Amino acid sequence: MTDTLHSVDIAIVGAGPVGMALALALAGGPYSVLLIDSRQRGASAGDPRALALSHGTRQLLERLGAWNSPLATPIQTIHVSQRGGFGRTLIDATDYGIPALGYVMRYRDLAATLDRRMATSRLLSNCTVVKILANRDAANITLDDDGETRSIAARLVVHAEGTPGNDEGVRVCDYRQHALVAEVRPLAGHAHRAWERFTPDGPLALLPLAQDYSVVFTMPPDKASEHIKLDEQAFLAALRTQFGSRIDFVASGPRASFPLALRVRRQLTVQRQVWIGNAAQSLHPVSGQGFNLGLRDAWELAEALLTRAGGDPGDAAALAFYTQGRRIDRVGSMGFTDGIVRLFSNDLGPLQVARGLGLLSLDLLPPLRHFVARRMIWGARAWP
Ligand SMILES: Cc1cc2nc3c(=O)[nH]c(=O)nc-3n(C[C@H](O)[C@H](O)[C@H](O)COP(=O)(O)OP(=O)(O)OC[C@H]3O[C@@H](n4cnc5c(N)ncnc54)[C@H](O)[C@@H]3O)c2cc1C
Repeated sequence: MTDTLHSVDIAIVGAGPVGMALALALAGGPYSVLLIDSRQRGASAGDPRALALSHGTRQLLERLGAWNSPLATPIQTIHVSQRGGFGRTLIDATDYGIPALGYVMRYRDLAATLDRRMATSRLLSNCTVVKILANRDAANITLDDDGETRSIAARLVVHAEGTPGNDEGVRVCDYRQHALVAEVRPLAGHAHRAWERFTPDGPLALLPLAQDYSVVFTMPPDKASEHIKLDEQAFLAALRTQFGSRIDFVASGPRASFPLALRVRRQLTVQRQVWIGNAAQSLHPVSGQGFNLGLRDAWELAEALLTRAGGDPGDAAALAFYTQGRRIDRVGSMGFTDGIVRLFSNDLGPLQVARGLGLLSLDLLPPLRHFVARRMIWGARAWP
């Protein structure tokens, strides 16, 4: 049986951090907004990821009233190096007159903070969107609500449902890498330093998180399944091997792994629909851009919609304006991340030398280093 629930101005599919940020940015505006998520409210409490949030992201979350300082660990310096090769560089917050280059926060803490903040927003949880049919006047959404079929009419559907599958509207580049994540305790404190180490298998990041490091260890899928099964001591030994005598670890929490691919939606808008966050582009986590970029999508979409307050939110011209405005940030962030993965995830001799020279020039040429640092701090505003 199909039961028409109601109609809204804007339906946001996916109450992940990007969808929730958009709902918050639109709150108090002229549009009625409904969030729809296939999971139970609070389901992200079990998510094992930690996210590096840029300084610019902190500012946007503050403007949404969703910045939770006690749960964010500042990054003061970032040490970048390659295993088995020369060259290293150090990026320091004091060079940029800001308190921190970025912050590390657990995905679940970010989601819970956004969720608390939007307590009054309308959210349908446990409802999976199964079909959308749009026409000139509205988009009709078909939902599976615990086995019951329901429908909602919206003037605009925002897709924030996270990483897409292999549908034909999505360009996929499989990196054949998995990211193994865990929280590990260092023997000595972390002094708010993040480490980015390039290994022949893929990049390895240590991000300061409370007293621990959040580890993002990328490697081929078969190695990732072996590393997941290692006992705690063997896993810590594998990490030590990557860092030599620089850092030692004494304990590790549970491990989880995520397959990695670049997934890019070819067209960000079709009739009365727009894609943001991971639903628009899913990136390799190497440079910690995914959520930061997705939050800027949400922010700019809200700005575009609120500027036309009272108008039709699904108006094709407004959506085209939004898409055009996101082009440089999107292409720049995807190119930056993809370039790093390709340059640094291999063991080819000439590339190892080129990488060493690259790291050396970052260290010796402050303008180059500042360019990379500003990208991490500000995102889009670092591009000309
Ligand atoms: C290992 C790892 C490390 C990362 N590190 C960083 C980092 O350091 N910095 C950074 O900025 N980013 C990082 N990212 C990327 C970041 O996690 C994502 O960019 C971010 O979570 C995207 O948020 P989202 O809201 O778009 O999607 P999601 O977080 O995936 O949320 C999507 C929501 O949509 C819901 N949903 C899905 N399908 C449907 C449907 N059909 N109907 C209704 N609801 C649906 C889901 O239940 C979910 O709640 C990392 C990613 C990984 C895997």
